Amino acid sequence: DKQYVSFATLPNQVHRKSVKKGFDFTLMVAGESGLGKSTLVHSLFLTDLYKDRKLLSAEERISQTVEILKHTVDIEEKGVKLKLTIVDTPGFGDAVNNTECWKPITDYVDQQFEQYFRDESGLNRKNIQDNRVHCCLYFISPFGHGLRPVDVGFMKALHEKVNIVPLIAKADCLVPSEIRKLKERIREEIDKFGIHVYQFPECDSDEDEDFKQQDRELKESAPFAVIGSNTVVEAKGQRVRGRLYPWGIVEVENQAHCDFVKLRNMLIRTHMHDLKDVTCDVHYENYRAHIRQM
Ligand code: GDP
Ligand code: MG
Repeated sequence: DKQYVSFATLPNQVHRKSVKKGFDFTLMVAGESGLGKSTLVHSLFLTDLYKDRKLLSAEERISQTVEILKHTVDIEEKGVKLKLTIVDTPGFGDAVNNTECWKPITDYVDQQFEQYFRDESGLNRKNIQDNRVHCCLYFISPFGHGLRPVDVGFMKALHEKVNIVPLIAKADCLVPSEIRKLKERIREEIDKFGIHVYQFPECDSDEDEDFKQQDRELKESAPFAVIGSNTVVEAKGQRVRGRLYPWGIVEVENQAHCDFVKLRNMLIRTHMHDLKDVTCDVHYENYRAHIRQM
């Protein structure tokens, strides 16, 4: 039974354009190691980016944590092609001294702008490969009581460069009232520290009532609380992606259990083009303005 990622059910107009040309998208994941970044990517795109990686020795693994890994996969659904690039970043925040631990990540984002800028000013402008990072999913620990200094540091170092979408990781570790509280706390702190996370655009007034309602719910749910899983389990006679516990099953795609579906719809159906537009019109323009001043 084939599972679908469901980007092929994009709104009509976008869909038609995408069928012809195919589209590409670069997504970065960041945050402390062990928060479920690789697992969530797998759950989102139903593709194991890591299956070909050999097991690393302890020594190699240490050097791996300072490396940024880039995987590209082509997903095709109902004739629509998506070229997806995932940028997996070292899980920082493990070191005793976390000062500037996000430097390799900001450097990476800048390098993509630099490359694009060079290509754009070059002779062969027709076939530029756009490797700019369109969105960064930032994983926040469910075990803290809000943002840690390293979270604030990371987001402030990147918020003028990339669309940051903060997530509460491993939401199955919290009960609903704890999630509500943590969300509220994080929203307050994002405000207090002047962090600019990705802003969902205003909904067009000519959209239908269903769409508007969905849009309101999306905005109210931020920061999304997510659960990832690499396994399919049986729940009420159905095979679903979930996590099996002695007392029951948490279902990744059950909207009563977490915001996974909201996040996925946002990324691959409703907001992919806006994320690309903001990258180009705001973040890349910032970069260019900065270059001109130098
Ligand atoms: P990464 O280092 O951030 O890429 O984290 P991984 O995806 O490698 O996951 C680390 C561990 O956490 C693994 O044992 C996963 O099975 C587990 N894990 C991943 N996602 C979740 C989740 O949503 N909830 C819980 N409880 N565990 C998870
Ligand atoms: Mg990982």
